[in-house]
Amino acid sequence: MKDVKVLVCDPIDEVGVKMLREAGYQVDLKTDITGADLVKTAVAYDALVVRSRTKVTKEVLQAGKPRLKIIARSGVGLDNVDSEAAKTLGIQVVNSSEAPSNAVAELVIGYMLSLSRNIARGDASMKRGEWAKNKLTGFELSGKTMGIVGFGRIGFLVGKKTKALGMRVLCYDVLIDKMMNLVQEAGAEAVPLDKLLTESDIITVHVPLLPQTKYMFNAVTIAKMKKGSYIINAARGGIIEEKALIDALKTGHLAGAALDVYEEEPTRNLDLIKMENVVCTPHIGAESKEAQLGNSTIVAEKLIKTLG
Ligand code: NAD
Repeated sequence: MKDVKVLVCDPIDEVGVKMLREAGYQVDLKTDITGADLVKTAVAYDALVVRSRTKVTKEVLQAGKPRLKIIARSGVGLDNVDSEAAKTLGIQVVNSSEAPSNAVAELVIGYMLSLSRNIARGDASMKRGEWAKNKLTGFELSGKTMGIVGFGRIGFLVGKKTKALGMRVLCYDVLIDKMMNLVQEAGAEAVPLDKLLTESDIITVHVPLLPQTKYMFNAVTIAKMKKGSYIINAARGGIIEEKALIDALKTGHLAGAALDVYEEEPTRNLDLIKMENVVCTPHIGAESKEAQLGNSTIVAEKLIKTLG
């Protein structure tokens, strides 16, 4: 066994743990470790593996020096890792943002079908003992226009899948000029944001949450959307302003929305999630067996590359 110690602080798929052990590392699993305990123990490890539960604070990073070399966040986003402090201390930070792309894209297709054919609404009404057949007339996706905002890994996959459903696919991305081969491969049309807003029957957002994308969908941009259209957010809470969304759903300007992510998580915005025309899930975009397996193996590969 090598003198390399890895602390797994949140549950990851066992295949990744096996890969790390086969690389000759001592791997300790403490998947309910508290922040205070992590400050005490980090110094004994070369690497920490975390998901979103464990907060890798400046204090943890400072306590981990000089041994701690790398933080591996299994999954997307680094909100729970103080990346600035890590940079200053010379501790590498990696994640596995590529793993859940297909899982999120398939979830979006599920939302589209649920919104267009009232699947969630029909299910809820039957569980209340109703037979609301006549109130659940929906529409077909084929021939409708899909607008994809953010044409990166997930946006591209959503584009390919929605094209296969017979939809016209519009896309917008700040880097679209560098992505024209992908736009072509998906059979999509690159358009300015305003055109996408006014012509899409369903819009789905796949941009990261940045100062430039915070409330990108607000009262002004939502007002530009086609009357009776739908919006989907399986990217990050805060890209759509929830207050503006509720207003647009109440007036009927928007016919419905599907949400996996919220301004606050767990969300307490019952005014939003209890609306009949909102389909919601508790941030399950990456919760597929395949994505979790991908997260753990990608993280293990990146650790092995760095730790040798
Ligand atoms: P990505 O980096 O591959 O793509 C993001 C795209 O957004 C890029 O092409 C970028 O150029 C574009 N972009 C950035 N700022 C923009 C702006 N202001 N206007 C237009 N385009 C802009 O990322 P990805 O892997 O496709 O992930 C997209 C989002 O999905 C991220 O926010 C990620 O956190 C989220 N996500 C959510 C879940 C979940 O569980 N629901 C899981 C995975 C990823």
